[in-house]
Amino acid sequence: MTRLEKVRNSMKEQEIDGLIVYSPYNLRYLANFTGTTGFALITLTDAYFVTDARYTQQAQQQAKGFHVIEHKTGWVPAFEKIIRENDLKFVGFEADHVSVSQLEIFEDAFDTALIPTQNIVEKIREVKDEGEIQTIREACRISDAAFLHILDFIKPGVTEIQVANELDFYMRGLGATGVSFDTIIASGVRSSMPHGVASAKVIETGDLVTLDFGCYYNGYVSDMTRTIAVAEPIDQLKEIHDVVLQAQLKVSEAAGPGKTGVELDKIARDYIASRGYGEYFTHRTGHQIGLEDHEYGDVSSTNEMVCEPGMIFSIEPGIYLPGRMGVRIEDLVLVTEDGVEVLNKLNKEFVVVGEK
Ligand code: ZN
Ligand code: ZN
Repeated sequence: MTRLEKVRNSMKEQEIDGLIVYSPYNLRYLANFTGTTGFALITLTDAYFVTDARYTQQAQQQAKGFHVIEHKTGWVPAFEKIIRENDLKFVGFEADHVSVSQLEIFEDAFDTALIPTQNIVEKIREVKDEGEIQTIREACRISDAAFLHILDFIKPGVTEIQVANELDFYMRGLGATGVSFDTIIASGVRSSMPHGVASAKVIETGDLVTLDFGCYYNGYVSDMTRTIAVAEPIDQLKEIHDVVLQAQLKVSEAAGPGKTGVELDKIARDYIASRGYGEYFTHRTGHQIGLEDHEYGDVSSTNEMVCEPGMIFSIEPGIYLPGRMGVRIEDLVLVTEDGVEVLNKLNKEFVVVGEK
């Protein structure tokens, strides 16, 4: 079944005869469009892609299966004409992406019932096809290689920002077009902040350093985390690293088709609690990933998401002792027919750099 056919099946279930696609990631997914300005309107029998003169040629090449329309006076009037000519009665819009003021513009312009929808395309994006899997595999290969490279770069005296820049630049050298998110380099006490974006702090002997980073490769992202020590790690650090690592491995071993996000999250949470650090694991265990770093669906205590072959998500438990230290370990996994394939191929044992 094509992606558009899947969208149309959801539209029929929701009893709408048109869907306005507004999210750039959903446009990329459905229309293969990589430009920044374009909008799609999908009907039960047709698909339209409206853009301006800057992107017409690009859209004609990329948006296979869509009628590409170049607007002269704004895309909303172009949509109004499509809605009128197709006699669309119930047109869905993406409630999570369309702003209130944009909706008011739709209401003024369109003579149809406007129906808020949620996650129609995002749910289809959950299960990746072979091409998407290969692309994410390659993105993970790049971030694995960048991690090995950066181990030689991290030493007392360099700043977190210098480490982040080196990491980002190295990934671009391997074919990445950008980073998935601002690279997190959190050293010393800053490692107790789960999302400490790289700062001007100088890395010192005895620090531990959490590196959480990923790259964009052909439109898809990777995301990995390792926590390492810069010489002389204290014993408690080794202990919490071991707790997090064992929790990470237990989830990875248990994951597979039929398992729910709730069940997998509980495995990490129960294990960390059994080792006495339960109150310091303060975030969900993982998130789905693809065109965006954080996609619909996660591994958390509230999500009944059922794993299916082709889903890709992170497993990233962590322990954060406020004002002291934190450890997180994150890999991406692909759900297979009988378990998961770990897409990050590096081992996760404790690493000490800069030892004399
Ligand atoms: Zn991450
Ligand atoms: Zn993540």
